[in-house]
Amino acid sequence: MRNISSETYSVKLNSSEFSYFYRFGMQRYIQDMLLSRQVIRPKEEFYNCHRWSRQSVCAVNRNDESGRAYFDNIVSCHNAKSCAVCAPRIMGVRSVEIRQAVHQWLCESPDHTCYMITLTFSHHATDRLQDLLDRFRDSVKFYWSHRTVVSFFRDCGYLGRITSTEIQFSQKNGFHPHQHVLIFSNKISLDVEKLRQLWMVSLHASGLTGADDIAFSIVEARSAEKYLTKISSEMALGNLKEGRATGHYSPFQLAFEGLTSQASWAEDAFSEYFSAVRGKHFLFWSKGLKKYFGIGNVSDSDICEGASDNLTHFLDFLSENFVKFSWAEKAELLKIGSANDYAAADIFFSSRGIKYWRNYNE
Ligand SMILES: [Zn+2]
Repeated sequence: MRNISSETYSVKLNSSEFSYFYRFGMQRYIQDMLLSRQVIRPKEEFYNCHRWSRQSVCAVNRNDESGRAYFDNIVSCHNAKSCAVCAPRIMGVRSVEIRQAVHQWLCESPDHTCYMITLTFSHHATDRLQDLLDRFRDSVKFYWSHRTVVSFFRDCGYLGRITSTEIQFSQKNGFHPHQHVLIFSNKISLDVEKLRQLWMVSLHASGLTGADDIAFSIVEARSAEKYLTKISSEMALGNLKEGRATGHYSPFQLAFEGLTSQASWAEDAFSEYFSAVRGKHFLFWSKGLKKYFGIGNVSDSDICEGASDNLTHFLDFLSENFVKFSWAEKAELLKIGSANDYAAADIFFSSRGIKYWRNYNE
């Protein structure tokens, strides 16, 4: 059992509890692991996410639509790639935006459709992730500015695209960055070979290579779910054990491996991943696309502060208590909020001798 600080993480993680326990246990483990390796410093928001409060009173709020509950007035890191608590919350809102855009586009005209392009390249266990990402970025830039690609999409009623960059890891082949690109255009007869060859040329331009039957694919995606299934896979904390079965690990599957097996290779890989992606945004909408669909520019930090959710207030309590709760108690409290269960809230707080308010201002 893992015990980096005074708290153990594995007890609740081995239970079949609702995913709040996975998220909070995983978050605390990742924070402590990165701190112990001096990848982060104790004053950073990433380390302090959901440890401290910003005000004297904390709230638990619930999104009635999703049924998810959240803390308000607490420190959050709004890290969309590496925080097990913030990332799923951000991804939840981004998924709704993508669904809205695809639905609207397909409803507007029978000629409209979406295509999903996947872009990858060859890589090896000895490659550094930062170097791969730099070269990959250059290849992608080369591709989308190539005159043949530009004129091809211009001629097919191209409106714009959403790009998600994902990273997986395998012990055999190292880091595997790839992109899933959702194209909004008219139905067309695709010249797949031409588009694929241009991707090969783009890879060579930045010193990368790829097997042409693997490095490029394009399929029609007449539902957002097809795309979301691809790009949400690393945020779905429900299949954390899958990495071990397939040998291909998402970042959170790597963290799960480090947590449950104390595997130093997994912690090394997660640490390198964390450093390489920090400060970078990996979900992009092309210029004007959000505006076309009437979708506002809500930042990741706005999402974590609850600005984009239609939240219903559940209860308030003093922040001096929040900072004393273990990660498992925080998870338990959100589970109670999610169920809108005041009877359970009564038991939770009274058993700890803590007062709470259904509305602090009443
Ligand atoms: Zn966070």
